[in-house]
Amino acid sequence: MLLEIQGLGVDFPQGGVFSKSILQALNEVSLTVAEGEALALVGESGSGKSTLAKVVAGLQVASRGEIRFNDAPRSKAARDDIQMVFQNPFASLNPVHDIRHHLERPLKLYGFDKPGALKELLETVGLDESYLPRFPHELSGGQRQRVAIARALAPRPKLLLADEPTSMLDVSSRMDILQLLDRLRKETGVGLLFVTHDLAAARWLCDRILVLYAGQVMEMAPADTLLRSPKHPYTQLLLAAATHGVGLDTELPAKPGRANTIDPTPGCPFQNRCLQALPACSTTTPTLLGEQHQVACHLETK
Ligand code: SF4
Repeated sequence: MLLEIQGLGVDFPQGGVFSKSILQALNEVSLTVAEGEALALVGESGSGKSTLAKVVAGLQVASRGEIRFNDAPRSKAARDDIQMVFQNPFASLNPVHDIRHHLERPLKLYGFDKPGALKELLETVGLDESYLPRFPHELSGGQRQRVAIARALAPRPKLLLADEPTSMLDVSSRMDILQLLDRLRKETGVGLLFVTHDLAAARWLCDRILVLYAGQVMEMAPADTLLRSPKHPYTQLLLAAATHGVGLDTELPAKPGRANTIDPTPGCPFQNRCLQALPACSTTTPTLLGEQHQVACHLETK
């Protein structure tokens, strides 16, 4: 298996040095990504999607759990095989360097700077050598994100972590970037962990979707299955919000509110919003059950 995560947790200490308070950003997250597979991480802001991507990339330390890469514990060296594309192509490129610098540097650093490598890298992301002398401010948002993807591909990674790579782009550039990511994984076999708010993009690009809420996995299933027959009340809420539009005068299938991630107590993290909550929901944390279609909800075992 390309990526295998078991029981991952991330806590951020809160308060002063003598405080025992924690913000639980992730808890008991387990997932796999196979070679060439695309897994979408969806959930609202603060659900832990980006923290999870950062832990996999080695940019954030896990408090507990295990990360395996290529069937072995993820080593420091293996991190070269895991590259990240960030949300903001405006901030992820250095404005004082031209595109040649941004792409030549990683090619040299990882020993892939053979003749023609730069041209090949540009062509992979649908650009050409005329972009090399340009600076980031001379490119559109979509072109900048292509350069950021090319830079991430320079070390020839086996896993690409794309953290909301289309959320700051206009609609036509969004589709271009999604098509580019789709082509890359099909042609190169690179695995993809795609962090997004956009359920339609997740369905279009990804094989499976994992729904996170308050740092915990609520539901995980093949993309079509999850969007056609969502079982978890939180997934149903996400779908209803995406379909009807938040802010419109629409009845959503949940109470308003937020999960408590500071010093959380046992029970379902969605309990204060759920319209179907059972007595067990406030005392026992539901475990993720199922095989292809996994759900963490007491309604499944009622
Ligand atoms: Fe609602 Fe309980 Fe299911 Fe949580 S476990 S989603 S509170 S029914």
